[in-house]
Amino acid sequence: MSDNCIFCKIAAGDIPAKKVHEDEEFIAFHDINPAAPTHLLVVPRRHVRSLADVTSEDAGWLGRMTVLAQKLAFDNGCTPGHDGGFRLVVNTGQEGGQEIDHLHFHILGGPRPWNKRAAPAA
Ligand code: 5GP
Ligand code: ZN
Repeated sequence: MSDNCIFCKIAAGDIPAKKVHEDEEFIAFHDINPAAPTHLLVVPRRHVRSLADVTSEDAGWLGRMTVLAQKLAFDNGCTPGHDGGFRLVVNTGQEGGQEIDHLHFHILGGPRPWNKRAAPAA
């Protein structure tokens, strides 16, 4: 838990969110400003600032987070099959467009067109 971190507070239940998944390692919830028909955020409960801060020791939970993202995408409106799919976006650091300094995956999907204005790192 990091002080004044919005995603730590959502993980702790101190700030409400439209959650779609919770387990001992991760939470996932709808982005408050969706850029696509499906726009979820997948967040590790542990405060990790960004993808720039991980090492090979983090490969296990990062792998589980990636597989979880695929499942959550298809369970929450992304179209299966090669004609469907989704985008997985990990904004990293200031030049990467990261606004919340707690590592998170964006899952974006659903029928196009999407909202270009709000799309992260389009
Ligand atoms: P970043 O730019 O850091 O990759 O993305 C942060 C995302 O978090 C943005 O898409 C923004 O809409 C979302 N966000 C910011 N504050 C909140 C919040 O309090 N609740 C939820 N559900 N999403 C938030
Ligand atoms: Zn945090």
